[in-house]
Amino acid sequence: MHEYSLFLSLLKTIEEYLKPYEKPKISKVILSIGIYSGVDLEYLDEVIRNFKVGTLLEEAEIIFEREPLRVQCFQCGKIGEPTIQSASCPFCGSFDTKIIGGFDFILRTLEIEDEEGSPN
Ligand SMILES: [Zn+2]
Repeated sequence: MHEYSLFLSLLKTIEEYLKPYEKPKISKVILSIGIYSGVDLEYLDEVIRNFKVGTLLEEAEIIFEREPLRVQCFQCGKIGEPTIQSASCPFCGSFDTKIIGGFDFILRTLEIEDEEGSPN
């Protein structure tokens, strides 16, 4: 259950992050999920819906953002999003590229309604 362990590590990350807050209420979470990250979005959504009850994410709006494949080209220096399943530069066609996006699972945004005031 890859998606379930992702969910658990996401929760752990969020709990760590919210430690300084008294009673944090998360209003929105944006997750950036690379198209080649191997994450099944439908399944992840199902996992979150089933397991968020009683967690910090219970009332949060959770948004998935698909991160496209992105490459940085060493020939022309541009950053592009190849449209086909190839790591060649979409601007000059060079294969002298480095993949810089599309494989990650990132907690992009965490919005908190802190009813108890700031941690200070
Ligand atoms: Zn190029």
